[in-house]
Amino acid sequence: MYRTHHCGELRLTDTGKSVVLSGWVRRSRDLGGLTFIDLRDRYGITQIVFDMDVQPELCEKARDIGRETVVKISGVVRERSNKNHGIPTGEIEIEATDLEVLNPSKTPPFTIEDATDGGDELRMRYRYLDLRRGPLLRNLTLRHKTAWHARKFLDGLNFLEIETPYLIKSTPEGARDFVVPGSMHPGEFYALPQSPQTLKQLLMVGGYDRYFQIVKCFRDEDLRADRQPEFTQIDCEMAFVEKDDVLEVFEGMIKYIFRELIQVELPDFPRMGYETAMAKYGSDKPDTRFAMEIHDIGEHAKGKGFQVFDGCECVLAIAVKGAADYSRKQLDGLTDWVKRPQIGAKGLVYVKYNGKGDLKSSVDKFFSPEQLEEWCGACGAEPGDLLLVLSGDLTSTRKQIGELRLHMADLLGLKTPGAFSPLWVVDFPMFEWDEELKRHQAMHHPFTSPVAEDEELLDSDPGSVRANAYDLVINGSEIGGGSIRIHRRELQNRVFSLLGFTAEEAHDQFGFLLDAFEYGAPPHGGIAFGLDRLCAVMGGSDSIRDFIAFPKNNAGRDVMLDAPAPLSTEQMQELGLALRESDEEPSGEG
Ligand code: ASP
Repeated sequence: MYRTHHCGELRLTDTGKSVVLSGWVRRSRDLGGLTFIDLRDRYGITQIVFDMDVQPELCEKARDIGRETVVKISGVVRERSNKNHGIPTGEIEIEATDLEVLNPSKTPPFTIEDATDGGDELRMRYRYLDLRRGPLLRNLTLRHKTAWHARKFLDGLNFLEIETPYLIKSTPEGARDFVVPGSMHPGEFYALPQSPQTLKQLLMVGGYDRYFQIVKCFRDEDLRADRQPEFTQIDCEMAFVEKDDVLEVFEGMIKYIFRELIQVELPDFPRMGYETAMAKYGSDKPDTRFAMEIHDIGEHAKGKGFQVFDGCECVLAIAVKGAADYSRKQLDGLTDWVKRPQIGAKGLVYVKYNGKGDLKSSVDKFFSPEQLEEWCGACGAEPGDLLLVLSGDLTSTRKQIGELRLHMADLLGLKTPGAFSPLWVVDFPMFEWDEELKRHQAMHHPFTSPVAEDEELLDSDPGSVRANAYDLVINGSEIGGGSIRIHRRELQNRVFSLLGFTAEEAHDQFGFLLDAFEYGAPPHGGIAFGLDRLCAVMGGSDSIRDFIAFPKNNAGRDVMLDAPAPLSTEQMQELGLALRESDEEPSGEG
């Protein structure tokens, strides 16, 4: 028998019991007459003690044991004289009567402690060692429980979890497809789903009016920090619903998960239009834990002879609370920050609002104190606040000042840990104009329906059509998104054609869906949540990697498995990706 108990289990009430424990040696300490081992497993740490006077041989053996060795220990539970109130087993220890080494360990390349000395890449390479550390254990436990509670909640509402295939045809979500060849069909490829979007819609046509699936999705996109080429969604779809029905069910689910898992009672989720989000926060996923809203001060700042402002589309400002005492150096730092290529502003104007009539700005030459005071008024600034002002074209300036707003919040510590600010962002534009391709792209995906009253604008003014789509945003993170779908063939055809598909292309790629719409497709809609991100937000982390057992690095590589990797010539040939020797050489003629 390897164990009668695990390492987090024994208490004072177990004193006197003979027990067997197995686990990893976190460390051993030799105090002359006594040797201590901290034995660790998933459940906790138990102290084992070896007494030189009682068991000299065993004690010698314990002294020599290296970190991370797997051992089995028999002994008797006794009360500790020196109690550790920091851990649940801290009142007892095991007086060892036997010690068996089950498997020795090399010295691990980093310390396996909550605060480790290992860098990212090293820990990814030895992920199985990293997984032994407390933070990852807690994160993966949170992930398990999130998935489990989602299932429990949805099952309670009659949702069925139905698996959809991974080897499919393209499902466009705005990324490139990962493709899979197979030996049965040389020259042909499956695509891995970017999401089960079309399949879940077909399930609605099939009558499964409440579907969900905790499912892997694959997107071959340019990697940005904190994106993974494969990630997990809680993917959901419902038939005979309108937007409010979907939002109600899933607001309930998110509240339930927060309540059960981290004992947080979320408020009702406010709804914010896309246009408002962009205007006030410069982002379609605003962090509303703090205000610092963006104000358009154009009417007070333009036409006063300051050319930088006069020639541009908008002048936008934020009032930073209590930052009027920023030094020259700090302000130069902010200017450099907004000029970095990632942000792309040309410069930064500031106004220190020290008090009534007492202002200092970088544009004192061009504006009188009264004029600057008007700006402050327009931004709701109070004495002691610092106004930061950017100008330019509307779209870029909004984004830039939105980023600056987040940066200031970081500097001022406004992103309170443990605070959660959820909201629904609604009324997205249906299309965005792609300057390179010179055509519209679906902002969400091509299956999203327009808001009913905007349908008539599809032909005349597609740019102004709003989509019947919604995103769940928490603390500036997009946690989920979905829409009410198109379920009539002719509307779907019109949208495909607006997106630049010829009838033939649409039929080739999505004929199965268009056909299905002709066999009694019910009205339907749904949503998908990013499980990785949901966990990261609940766990108070910026990194989804910390919530994935075996993540890829920022370049999309698995550094532990060393993937992706080249194939052997034989395998390439089998898949029809390389010529076989028996194949004729292409003649180059014709
Ligand atoms: N398929 C969508 C996505 O992956 C979600 C949805 O519309 O339900 O973003």
